[in-house]
Amino acid sequence: MQSNPMYHKEKTDNFGTNSQGWNFHNSYVKLPSSFFACLDPVQVSSSKIVVFNSSLARFLGLNPDELESDKGAAIFSGNQLPENAEPLAMAYSGHQFGYFTVLGDGRAILLGEQITPQGERFDIQLKGSGRTPFSRGGDGRAALVPMLREYIISEAMYYLRIPTTRALAVVTTGENVMRQTLLPGAILTRVASSHIRVGTFEAAACQGGVEDVKVLAEYTINRHFPDLKSEANPCLALLQAAVSSQASLVAKWQCVGFIHGVMNTDNMALSGETIDYGPCAFMDSYDPATVFSSIDQQGRYSYGNQPRICQWNLTRFAETLLPLISKNENEAIKKATRVLESFPEIFESFWLDGMKRKLGMSGVEKEDPELIEGLLSLMQKHRADFTNTFRNLHLKKLPDDPLFHDQAFAVWHGEWMNRLKSQSLSINESHAIMDKNNPAVIPRNHRVEEALETAESKGDYSVMHRLMSVLAKPFEDNSQSSHYRMPPGPEFASYQTFCGT
Ligand code: AMP
Ligand code: MG
Repeated sequence: MQSNPMYHKEKTDNFGTNSQGWNFHNSYVKLPSSFFACLDPVQVSSSKIVVFNSSLARFLGLNPDELESDKGAAIFSGNQLPENAEPLAMAYSGHQFGYFTVLGDGRAILLGEQITPQGERFDIQLKGSGRTPFSRGGDGRAALVPMLREYIISEAMYYLRIPTTRALAVVTTGENVMRQTLLPGAILTRVASSHIRVGTFEAAACQGGVEDVKVLAEYTINRHFPDLKSEANPCLALLQAAVSSQASLVAKWQCVGFIHGVMNTDNMALSGETIDYGPCAFMDSYDPATVFSSIDQQGRYSYGNQPRICQWNLTRFAETLLPLISKNENEAIKKATRVLESFPEIFESFWLDGMKRKLGMSGVEKEDPELIEGLLSLMQKHRADFTNTFRNLHLKKLPDDPLFHDQAFAVWHGEWMNRLKSQSLSINESHAIMDKNNPAVIPRNHRVEEALETAESKGDYSVMHRLMSVLAKPFEDNSQSSHYRMPPGPEFASYQTFCGT
C-alpha cells in the first residue's frame, strides 16, 4: 500500500475480508517479472458503491451482504485489499489502428484470481485505480459515465449469451478527473476469465523474446485450452484454437449488431471474451459501414470490417508464435498461414449457423447464404432496424415499415417461407427458435444515454436499474420491454462514442 496518512484509518481497520468470500489463488504473479509490475492501487479520498452486481458476486462465491457496504466500497476503490490479493499491473503492447505501441495497464490493477465455488478462475481487476508504471501521460483514472456504460453493456452482452468480461461493481472515488471538463471519478471492478491479450504476446515477443512467449503460451494453454497440452505442436494448436474462438465471438457480435469500435490487438483477449467497452455500441439501422467511434475516421472498425480485422489481429498473434511453431522460419510461416487462412471459412460457418437460427432455419441448403444475404441487402436498402426486423419477421401482421412494403421483400418472404416449410420442424418450432435467438431488447444507445445522464446529473440510478432489469431478459417481449424496443429518433443518427475516458 502507498503510505498516505490521510487514508490510514480505512487501510488498517480489520474488516475481516474473508467473511466476504475472497478466495484468491494467484497464478499470473508467478510468471517472470517482465510480465507485470507489482503495485497497490492508488488510494482514493472517499469511496461509495453506486452499482453492485449481487448475482455475479454470488456466482463468484462472494458474499453480497458483506460487500454491498462501506467495507465493499473500500475494496472496490482499492483502499483496502482483499485477503491474499497480490496487486499488479499487466504489461502488454498492441497494434492500435494498425500501429504497434507499447502499452500495459495504465489505469488498471489486477487484485487477484478468484476461485469460484465451482472451481473456475476469474481475474478481479480494478479499472481506474490510479497511475502505474504503464500510465504514460495518463492520469490512471476513469470517469463515472464510461465505467457505468461498461457495466451496462458488458452485462447486456452476458445476458445475450456472448462471451464477455463482466462488471461486479462501480464505485465513485470522491475525486474529479480532468477530461474536456472536470468529471466525477469512478472505478469499475471487472471480472474476466483472464486479461491475456494478443498484445500480451506481442509485448513478450518484442521485449522478452522467444523464451517469454514460450512461458506465456504455456500459461495460456494451461489456463484456457488445457486439452492442447498433449498436442504435437501446442503453439500451432493454440493459434488454431484462437482462430476458432475469435471467429465464434465475432460471429456472435455480427448476429446482434454489436460494434466493438476499437479492435486493437490489446483489446483482443485469448479467453475469447469481449473486452474493453470504450467506444462500442449497438447498430440500430442496418448498414455494414456503421461506425460510432469518433476516432475511427476510416471505418477500420466498422460493423462490416470486424471479421477481417479479427483475422488481421490473429495474424499479429501468429507472428509472435512463429519461432515456437517451427525452428525453420519458412516452415513456421507456412503452417501458421494455413491456419490463418482457415479463418474466413470458420467464421462463415459460425455466422451462417447464427443467422440461420435467427431465421428459424435448420438443416443445410446450398441457397442458405444467398437467402440470408438477400434479406440483409433489402434491410440495408431500407435502413431497417437490425434488431426489430429479425424479431418481427415471423409476425402474422408485419409492422408498417418500408422494408415490409417492398415488392422485393414479398418475393424474399415467399422464398424464406418455402425454405421453412421444406424442413423437418413445424412452423411454430421455427418461430420458437427465432424468438430464442433474436433479442427483443438490446442496449440501444438512446436508452443507455438516458440512464447514464440521469445517474450522472441527478445521482439517480433508477433509470439504469430499470434498463438493466430488461437487459437481463433480452429474449422476453412484454409490456415492460416495449419502451426499450423502440429505435431512437433521427437525433441519434449521428451518435458518437469515445475511447479512453
Ligand atoms: P484503451 O483505450 O482503454 O484500450 O487503453 C489503451 C491504453 O491506454 C492502455 O494501455 C490503457 O491502460 C491506457 N489508458 C487509457 N486511459 C488511461 C488513463 N486515464 N491513464 C493511464 N492510462 C490510460
Ligand atoms: Mg484496452
